[in-house]
This record gives sequence, structure tokens and C-alpha cells, in this order.
Amino acid sequence: MTDTNLLFSEEHIARRIDELAGEIAKGMPRDVLIVGLLKGSFVFVADLMRALHRRGAAPRIEFMRLSSYGLEMASSGEVHLLGDIPTDISGREILLVDDIVDTGRSLAYAIALLKQRGVLGIRTCALLDKPSRREVEVPMDFVGFTIEDVFVAGYGIDYAERYRDLPHIIVVGQAE
Ligand code: 5GP
Ligand code: MG
Repeated sequence: MTDTNLLFSEEHIARRIDELAGEIAKGMPRDVLIVGLLKGSFVFVADLMRALHRRGAAPRIEFMRLSSYGLEMASSGEVHLLGDIPTDISGREILLVDDIVDTGRSLAYAIALLKQRGVLGIRTCALLDKPSRREVEVPMDFVGFTIEDVFVAGYGIDYAERYRDLPHIIVVGQAE
């Protein structure tokens, strides 16, 4: 990896997550239920949860697994539920967390599913937002970084299952 495809360094991500946690802690209940979308959000959720703790919050955590891109760079456009939340979430305030919002289909699917279950309210949070790619309108409450239409990986986000282990975020498909 060279500097040419580094998008966000480890330090840059950490600083932004600390700020995001401040906004979330101000705007949501102390015991907010974080619902992370797997697999891409697992590193982000882990860091966000601890940043929230440092801001005096005590978040609860659940994960939901939606279908992925497979080995491609383009989404199939169809979202499937691969793994559900085990607990009753009626009456809870939810913070729905994803790694990247692209077409908006995954987030829209998850919001619809959670709403059917009688939650009190849902706010959304994504580390990365690509608004130029949006096909379905979704409310974005907390966004880490707004980015161009580039394909990224690292910090839990994969390209064909590679790069999840990187502590930083790179643009894939540029000279490595
Ligand atoms: P959407 O349903 O909004 O089109 O896509 C959301 C999901 O697509 C994200 O949660 C992420 O898993 C995947 N995705 C979108 N853009 C990228 C990207 O640039 N790189 C990778 N690795 N995955 C992406
Ligand atoms: Mg994802």
C-alpha cells in the first residue's frame, strides 16, 4: 500500500469517532441500543461503543446480518436477511449503524424491519456516506465522513474478504 490510496488514517478515524460519540451521547438516551449491520460495521461499532462509554453512555449492542456484495464491487440491488436480532426490541430507542451507505437499500431494509417491531425511534449512523450513489432515500442522522463515488476497504470493510484487518481506510482499485 502506498500513500496514494490512503483515504483516512487510523488517527483521523479515531478523532472523528470521538466527535460522533459526542453528538450521539447528546442526542440519544444513555442506554441506546446499537444495532450494527454485519459484517462491515463490526470494527466501527466496537470503537464507537467505547467512545460512547467515554462520553458517559452505556450502549447495548445487537447485530443484524444482511446480504453482502459477495466478491463484486457492485451490489446486486437485492437485500436479504442472513441473521436476525435475537431479543425483543419493542419500546427501545435504536441507533442503526452501518459502515457505508451507498444506494441506501441496506439501511432502508433494516429500518423497515425494525419499525415492524414496535421500536420507539430509530436514528441512523454510518462511518462513510456516498450521497452521489443514493437510489433509495434514507434519513442519515450521524455521518463520519462524506465521500465521493470510490470503492473503499479497510477498518472492517472488505474487498472480496480482504483488507478488513487494516486499521485505516484505503481506496481500492488505484495503484497499490
Ligand atoms: P447500499 O445498500 O447502501 O447500496 O450498500 C451498503 C453496503 O454496501 C455497505 O454497508 C457496504 O457493506 C457495501 N459497500 C458500499 N460501498 C462500498 C465500498 O466502497 N466498499 C465496500 N467494501 N463495500 C461497500
Ligand atoms: Mg455493510
